[in-house]
Amino acid sequence: MQGTVIIADAVSTNRILLKAKLAPWSYDVQMASTGAELLRLVELHPPSLIILSDDLPDAPATELCAKIKGDPALKAVPLIAFAQNDEAEDRIGLLRAGADDVFARPFRDVVLQARVRSLIRARTGVEELNLRDGTSRALGFAEAQTGFAPAARVAILAPDPTTASTWRRGLRSELRTAELTAHSFRQGLGEIAGDVVPDVFVIDLHGPLGAKGLRLLADIRANPETRHAGVLAVLEDGAPQDLAADALDLGAGDLMLHGFDAQELALRLRSQIAQKQTHDRLRLSVENGLRDAVRDPMTGLFNRRYAMPYLTRVIEENVKTGRGFAVMVADLDHFKQVNDTFGHAAGDAVLTEAATRLCSDLRAEDLIARMGGEEFLIVLPDSSNDEALLAAERLRQRVDATPFADPTTGRAIHVTVSIGVAICCVECLTRKRPEESANALLQLADEALYRAKHAGRNQVTMVNAA
Ligand code: GH3
Ligand code: MG
Ligand code: MG
Repeated sequence: MQGTVIIADAVSTNRILLKAKLAPWSYDVQMASTGAELLRLVELHPPSLIILSDDLPDAPATELCAKIKGDPALKAVPLIAFAQNDEAEDRIGLLRAGADDVFARPFRDVVLQARVRSLIRARTGVEELNLRDGTSRALGFAEAQTGFAPAARVAILAPDPTTASTWRRGLRSELRTAELTAHSFRQGLGEIAGDVVPDVFVIDLHGPLGAKGLRLLADIRANPETRHAGVLAVLEDGAPQDLAADALDLGAGDLMLHGFDAQELALRLRSQIAQKQTHDRLRLSVENGLRDAVRDPMTGLFNRRYAMPYLTRVIEENVKTGRGFAVMVADLDHFKQVNDTFGHAAGDAVLTEAATRLCSDLRAEDLIARMGGEEFLIVLPDSSNDEALLAAERLRQRVDATPFADPTTGRAIHVTVSIGVAICCVECLTRKRPEESANALLQLADEALYRAKHAGRNQVTMVNAA
């Protein structure tokens, strides 16, 4: 069972007919014949979709739409309204009240079914993003985003440049805050999307070039730069049934079936733009969350969560190639004294500067991670014992050679570092699982570090796994 659909229609044959059309989804269908009944049902059975006719005896459909869409718990539920008259005025009234789309009888089955698919797909996408966003937030990875939304960019695509420009002029007065551009199909997607990718594309699918418009729509969805943009397709009255359904299934987020109407298009565009901006915000916070999950915020270095699986991968590679690599652990000496003498803020500044110095002395393919406190893990792929020792000695000198500065007083802070290096042989690695080898190598490097500390600090010590 996919969830509940609520159908509200005064005429019982209409309700039964609609229920039959929805059979492919195996929904639990609930039916209402009045507005009051509809409102009771949405409370009782939280729906995945609402289909509402404007012939209910006790309340106008616009009022019911507004009530449902004004309820935070129901706001995101896709709502399709059925209008008695297939007139722009009725459609506009219902869209303005919050309906996601408006149909009239007789309607085309394939179009309704494609529309239900596209509305549910859009909602599932937002739910999935919300879930991931919530997960990273719960783990403490993501900060809430501010509500700032830049001016939306809308690109109008038509077979010929004249139509595109005419539509653009028509939309101008209805959609003042958006940036509108007009393009003919002859321009490729690369040129249309250019440097700044549009938030929403409007595609004119009328006439013999409709098929070309569909191909453009498929390109928009396939291109990594544009795949998150909204698409609104415009068809003429009497356009082939398949065209509308194909447009929806190819990923159009909305459809106009009766040709261009500036007011209606502007209304629908506003909702596509709002959806796109919500998506962007969510996606950004999920991406930031993932980035934050593997980075140490203070030094910008990778953290332990990233470093250990990385080391495991290096080991797997090494077992295959047998090229040799080194693992080292670097720990600042007497760092507690730095904090005690200069304060915690100065300690932070030294840590950050030490991370920068260590980083700048490594190759691009080397990994450095902050494992916690004043301890760093460094992995040098493709390195021999001698190379690893040389690299470690260079890092030690880099810290020792120049004093650090207290950021508030400018006083010099002399800091040194001890480094333990673990060298391993391929035979040792093949004997264990890569994860076990990673932990064992880290332990070995720690042991080497302990020896360096014990021997007086500010030095490099090596331990061989064999
Ligand atoms: P050793 O030479 O044996 O490594 O001595 P140590 O003082 O460096 O080592 P110890 O483990 O005793 O102390 C580590 C100190 O590092 C204690 C802790 O306050 C400090 N520290 C850990 N993380 C941070 C940080 O993020 N900022 C600052 N300012 N200090 C930190
Ligand atoms: Mg220390
Ligand atoms: Mg330490």
